[in-house]
Amino acid sequence: MRRTKIIATLGPSSTQRIKEMLEYVDIFRINFAHGDEESHKLYFDIIREAKKDIPILVDLPGPKMRIGDISKEMLLRPGDKIVFSQKEGIPVEDMNFYKMVKKDSEILVADGNIKIKIVNKGEDFAEGIVIEGGILRSRKGINIPETELESGVTPNDLRLLDEALKLGADFIGLSFVLSEKDIIKIKEIVKGNVWIIAKIEKNQALKKLEAIIRESDGIMVARGDLGLEIGLERLPFVQKRIIKESRHAGKPVILATQVLNSMVNNPIPTRAEATDIVNAIIEGVDAILLTDETAEGKYPVEAIQYLDKIITYAEARIRNNRPKPRDEIDDAIALAIVEIAEIANAKLIFVHSRTGSSIMRVSRFRPRVDIIGLCKSEQIAKRLKLCYGVTPLLLKKELKNLNQIVSFCERFYRRKFRKTGRIVIAGGDPRSKEGKTDFIKLHEINTES
Ligand code: PGA
Ligand code: MN
Repeated sequence: MRRTKIIATLGPSSTQRIKEMLEYVDIFRINFAHGDEESHKLYFDIIREAKKDIPILVDLPGPKMRIGDISKEMLLRPGDKIVFSQKEGIPVEDMNFYKMVKKDSEILVADGNIKIKIVNKGEDFAEGIVIEGGILRSRKGINIPETELESGVTPNDLRLLDEALKLGADFIGLSFVLSEKDIIKIKEIVKGNVWIIAKIEKNQALKKLEAIIRESDGIMVARGDLGLEIGLERLPFVQKRIIKESRHAGKPVILATQVLNSMVNNPIPTRAEATDIVNAIIEGVDAILLTDETAEGKYPVEAIQYLDKIITYAEARIRNNRPKPRDEIDDAIALAIVEIAEIANAKLIFVHSRTGSSIMRVSRFRPRVDIIGLCKSEQIAKRLKLCYGVTPLLLKKELKNLNQIVSFCERFYRRKFRKTGRIVIAGGDPRSKEGKTDFIKLHEINTES
């Protein structure tokens, strides 16, 4: 079993090939920054039809600035003078743009390919000189690196959130989170019905990282915008910091963007991309997200296959360094589970958990033994698909006591391996309080069949 999870963004390139992708994909992502109500529903339908219970992550756009509608693409050359204005000139989607840009500051357009220096501005216009040119199209993103924003949640996000909840999303990715306040605001609306993933892509968010991690259910290193906002030389260090702090807090962490970017156009990845993936595994990410590669690339299935192959090879060879156990009994128990399983050469670790928290604690220590997460809630089982090394198993019938748990695990093991071996079984005793790990059993299966 592959332990690092694969998330694939659905887009025009992948709708036709979704069946081929299913074998490798743990979670699908739909980016609500694009499309409309109709296309969002269509994407949900396509995924659900291919596989009913595969989890879906919906990304909300957050306060991302974009170019408005321009009738045809424009080639901008260094030295060209341009005017942003809603009346005559290049329109932007959000009027706040004119408040946010400052004279003499540089803004980045279209993933940083175009650089413009602002030389003059008023209430409803901004004039600039092109420093680095490129092709400008409608709806291209604009980054204004130094600006601090007030809120990471816009009225548009709230409208899209409502849509996502009605469609039954399992995770919500919040773009351009600025502080824990943004997460708390969304949490009050979703009331525990989805997991909230904070996408870290503003310098401002790095200043509040600890609080953001504490309030979120998961974190995404959103390297696309983050790289533009902080500068690429800082990105590798910031990536390490976000992964380390998320792992310390026991929150699943996703690495995103340009993971296999060359495969948008080529059938094989670059050497640098293969190395980047393996480095992320050494850093200990839970999941890797493909964006343009699967959404609009020429080789969506090949990209996933390469990712799967690179991860699987690496996982067999890397010994992941462990975060320190926090000063909590449950952490001490989780670490003990992992050590017993590894030293005893157990084939599987079974964790019985009603809230999922015991399973996540074991996953946090990155065992080299696969974790089967026994849960009774479909919602929790789907969410745990994000966590490193966890294969959730939804129990059809409630296991009422330890004996029932042990015999269930033994049957599962026998069906899978058909030979003698050891398993570790742990979790919360069904008769004690929820959310606690209070038993560990090293179980020998010494007769075949
Ligand atoms: P996006 O987020 O694809 O929604 O922009 C990921 C990123 O910025 O890296
Ligand atoms: Mn982004």
